[in-house]
Amino acid sequence: MTQKLKYERPFIKKMNMGLMNKFGTQSESEAVRDIDGVAVKALVNEFGSPLFVLSERQIRRNYRAAVRAFKTRYPKVQFAWSYKTNYLNAVCSIFHQEGSWAEVVSGFEYRKTLSNGVPGHHIIFNGPQKSTEELLLAIQNNSLIHIDHFDELYALIPLCQEHGSKPRVAIRVNMDTGIYPLWDRFGFNYENGQAWSAITKIINSGTMQLVGLHCHIGTFVLSASAYGVAAAKMSALALQCNAVLTTPIEYLDLGGGFPSTNTLKGAYLPGVDTVPSVDDFAEAITTTLLDAGFKQDELPLLILESGRVLIDDAGYLLGSVIANKRLADGRRAVVADFGVNTLFTSLWYDHKISPAQDVSPHTDTVTLYGPLCMNIDMIRESVNLPALQPGDNLVVHKVGAYNMTQWMQFISLRPAIVLIDEEHRPHLIRKAETLEYMEAPEVLPEYLREAKEAT
Ligand SMILES: *Cc1c(COP(=O)(O)O)cnc(C)c1O
Repeated sequence: MTQKLKYERPFIKKMNMGLMNKFGTQSESEAVRDIDGVAVKALVNEFGSPLFVLSERQIRRNYRAAVRAFKTRYPKVQFAWSYKTNYLNAVCSIFHQEGSWAEVVSGFEYRKTLSNGVPGHHIIFNGPQKSTEELLLAIQNNSLIHIDHFDELYALIPLCQEHGSKPRVAIRVNMDTGIYPLWDRFGFNYENGQAWSAITKIINSGTMQLVGLHCHIGTFVLSASAYGVAAAKMSALALQCNAVLTTPIEYLDLGGGFPSTNTLKGAYLPGVDTVPSVDDFAEAITTTLLDAGFKQDELPLLILESGRVLIDDAGYLLGSVIANKRLADGRRAVVADFGVNTLFTSLWYDHKISPAQDVSPHTDTVTLYGPLCMNIDMIRESVNLPALQPGDNLVVHKVGAYNMTQWMQFISLRPAIVLIDEEHRPHLIRKAETLEYMEAPEVLPEYLREAKEAT
């Protein structure tokens, strides 16, 4: 019996040869066969698919460039790695080795910094939720406690009295920097006087040392001038502390929020062509600080808690094609073995995606789906890709920030993570999850186990 070939409706498509577009960026259809000199195929064969890959060389390059951007413009600069952006111990160790302090927003993250060997006084403890035990731990370790709200301040006062030492604290300040909606749910507001009220309460309590002021005005902030406004308001507060309360402020912590070069969903132009550089942000912040009226020898230490800008472009997700499909209206679709559960940031970025093998120069606009049985599982609604076969590999770019912390264990298990060192050697830094790992914390009640055994 001969089988009849399946009919595929023909349609006309324009040819796309993968040339430069008018913005000078490469079309996505160009093949990317290796990451830092290690073949994508070899990585997938050894560690499985999907697979996260991090480039140590790129992490260090990003960090050093950011430090240079600030240190060439301002005398006292310190970075503190934002743990929630990527708290794999291998990653944190690289940042700490480069000289970065740690910035955490939970007790869980705080304990991770200790096991990573960060000295207590180099840990910044942020966030709205800190338990009594966690505050005590931070006090004992002489960490920098950044107070978020009055209830935390009132909880801290008796703890400091009991402990008998004066912990080093800062307050988180929120303010209008021209970015809306305002991030006014964290910290004390500058404009309505709440921040000043918190400062006077801290100093009058006599139980803590107010050593810093902190703000974190947003994330993926595209305006350098917003940081100029933030630096001006923070400087004004610090100068007021000195003038009115004779309390010199040792440091101003301007938080994180610098964007990576990813392209936001719905953006007209690609991120690489539109996003301000770290130098632009450094220029806005440091010029403001230098002009604010501090005496030369009383310039505060400038702390930065950058996250995504330091690691996004050092991360890749390798995956495989499961199937090709035609949608009802004839458009092409590709199903990949990674979904929004693994690639959380595909919910707000149009990630660049490249094939990992030789491909025909003819590309087509396709929808790229993940493998989940859910309608929202779409990685790219519309992406230019050449014809791909099941088993072909894909490389998703700039996935180093937030995916390896916000990923969800849903329907499938989370994949392995590999770090490529500066000598081009891959190291497994997190194993793929297994059924045993997932079920280890589960408890089957006795009566259900008996029922199972009886059947
Ligand atoms: C998340 C966070 C950061 C890092 O933000 P990025 O936008 O990734 O740079 C820094 N500081 C605080 C307080 C944060 O919550």
